[in-house]
Amino acid sequence: MKLATKMIHAGMEPDPSTGSVMIPIYQTSTYVQEAPGKNKGYEYARSQNPTRFALEEAFAIIENGKYGLAFSSGVAATDAVIKLLSPGDEVIAANDMYGGTYRLFTKVFEKFGVVFKCVDTTNVENIVNVISAKTKLVWLETPTNPLMNITDIAAVAAITKVHGCLLCVDNTFASPYLQNPLDLGADIVMHSATKYLGGHSDVIQGCLVMNDTALRDQLYFIQKSCGAVPGPQDCFLVLRGIKTLHVRMQRHCENGIKIAHWLRNNPKVAKVYWPGFEDSKGYAIAKQQMRGFGGMISFELKDDSIAEVNRVLSSTHLFSLAESLGGVESLINHPATMTHASIPREERIKNGLSDGLIRLSVGIEDADDLIEDLNKAIG
Ligand SMILES: *Cc1c(COP(=O)(O)O)cnc(C)c1O
Repeated sequence: MKLATKMIHAGMEPDPSTGSVMIPIYQTSTYVQEAPGKNKGYEYARSQNPTRFALEEAFAIIENGKYGLAFSSGVAATDAVIKLLSPGDEVIAANDMYGGTYRLFTKVFEKFGVVFKCVDTTNVENIVNVISAKTKLVWLETPTNPLMNITDIAAVAAITKVHGCLLCVDNTFASPYLQNPLDLGADIVMHSATKYLGGHSDVIQGCLVMNDTALRDQLYFIQKSCGAVPGPQDCFLVLRGIKTLHVRMQRHCENGIKIAHWLRNNPKVAKVYWPGFEDSKGYAIAKQQMRGFGGMISFELKDDSIAEVNRVLSSTHLFSLAESLGGVESLINHPATMTHASIPREERIKNGLSDGLIRLSVGIEDADDLIEDLNKAIG
């Protein structure tokens, strides 16, 4: 089945009790049992909920996987993956990734004895150099948040296969419309469904998709034991979001191309981070593993003084100054003080995330209006 058809039909079966086309929001905590142990497969809503199950099925279908699991946030999904590990186990992670992932790894899990080694994964050799018998997981983000670095998923999968460790890819920035890591050899795909999957800035949610049944059973066990499940209303919203993912992503990509080039040609802009430029470092791999370049763009101004950066950040009208991304409306963000403030400054600078970096989540408004808004702010 082609992508557009999958997005609309994934997980959708008419409700058996009424024929309702949309899966109802099963707003219930528990289910009546006929006799002790005799039930319809639904006992308690932390473990089973039909609205959530429909969404989990949709997650699996759109990521070309067998199983999907929904979580109450993206970080809750990441948390579940790390709970597969034991003290002493090592994780190799990207040195440029979502600030909340970095915080979860270093501030929460390090004290339980899980060891995190952050390397520049855009050079696969760096992974080869630190991988050992203790490595149980490689955690990738591509494109990365916020520097849009690209890592070759298939090349990393070839390494993790040889070492018998898991590869999990945070696919939030690309969305399943642009990239499917399981097809490239990853074991688990993670999404912050808060972003492109939900698509309307109205829900916090996360998901995992995988093919291996034993891995699915372990992660389902963690999901129900730790309890970070999304409510049925949120599941309904994300299911609805997925139905338009392909049309939204097409427009995000079109607007992204126009705005990236406009920024690059602007004399006040020093550097634009976007994987669609033919001379960008990750272009060849991005072209190979993605079907487009998305709507996330970061840039630096030539005058990167705090005053000027703050002035631009506060001068846009269509681009709202806010954290998050992937919604229909455009957002502007200052990673150093907002989304990535949890990464120590020294660490950030070392990895190329400057104090002046500005990140855009280009929405699906008219591109000319968006450019005019940026032009007034930067100009
Ligand atoms: C937002 C985000 C997360 C965290 O997801 P939440 O839904 O906010 O918990 C993880 N990874 C990336 C790339 C993100 O953008």
